[in-house]
Amino acid sequence: MIRDGVTPGSYASSVNPRQREVRDDLLLYGHERPTVDREATQTLRRRLVDELTALAAGVDGSDWIRVDKHRLSQAHTCAGYLRARSSEEFGWSVANVRGKVLHRALEGLIMSAYRRTPLELAHSAIDELAEDDDERTPGPFLAALSQGERQDLARDINDLLVKFVADWPPVLAGWSPRIESPVKLAFGSIHLQAQFDLSLGVPLGDEARTFIVDFKSGWQQNDHRLEARFYGLMEMLRSRVPPYRVATYYLDSGEYTVDDVDEELLRATSDWLIEGVRRIILASSDDPVTYEPSAACRWCPARHDCTDGQEWLTTFGRHSTPAPA
Ligand code: SF4
Repeated sequence: MIRDGVTPGSYASSVNPRQREVRDDLLLYGHERPTVDREATQTLRRRLVDELTALAAGVDGSDWIRVDKHRLSQAHTCAGYLRARSSEEFGWSVANVRGKVLHRALEGLIMSAYRRTPLELAHSAIDELAEDDDERTPGPFLAALSQGERQDLARDINDLLVKFVADWPPVLAGWSPRIESPVKLAFGSIHLQAQFDLSLGVPLGDEARTFIVDFKSGWQQNDHRLEARFYGLMEMLRSRVPPYRVATYYLDSGEYTVDDVDEELLRATSDWLIEGVRRIILASSDDPVTYEPSAACRWCPARHDCTDGQEWLTTFGRHSTPAPA
């Protein structure tokens, strides 16, 4: 039992210094929340809806275009990169299943009010997900893990969960936590999707009282910050009131990036989204795309046949940091 007995009354004294920092500096616990300019938010929302609807009108109605944070990041990296990645066959691996298992275990931690230990939660998360035999889920992959692979995965999940428990103040039921919370918005054949790792709070009138965070286990990347801002925009589109903050929390380093959500940030993120959707539509077609060589050429599946990519690799070298997970 990790947090049994934590109540709002005992809360202030029960947090450690790191938890206090996260609570006070990241979550802005106890601070006044911003009031949203309803007219400005509605104008921005209407503009975005109009632009997405216009883009959807140009797409063959029999297709649907999936728009999520990964595809947006890939599209902004290089439309050729997105096209190459989209044509790859997806397969579950220990690297891409780790996030799913972590989120399931985090869910168990918060839903049990911290009464279950990270190690127990890590094993149950693997067991529970492995029960699903639908090939589209990680179930069959997890069920087929060897004893050693399973132990490594449980060790990693336990490690991340213990770091979360050590760094974050106990998430109280009164904070209205949502874990793995999906947002799905369709504009014709354009389907926007997001899934917040953890969201806290709900708007109160025109007061922005929602906080959204994405957890990462790897290195910091600028893309992550843009992805968190996209989550803020998705929340605004869904609930009509944006979150007051969006953040990315790196469990291995204990560092985070954070943005206060205001009109300027929402407008910039809307432009980023529209441009990303344009590129996703283009990459899904047979039309020629513009190639934008960068470090991504090092792990791009199309690099062997891409003239721009080969030129970049010849100039800047073929080896560097590993591909992002
Ligand atoms: S190799 Fe580089 S330039 Fe070519 S498609 Fe891939 S990321 Fe784009």
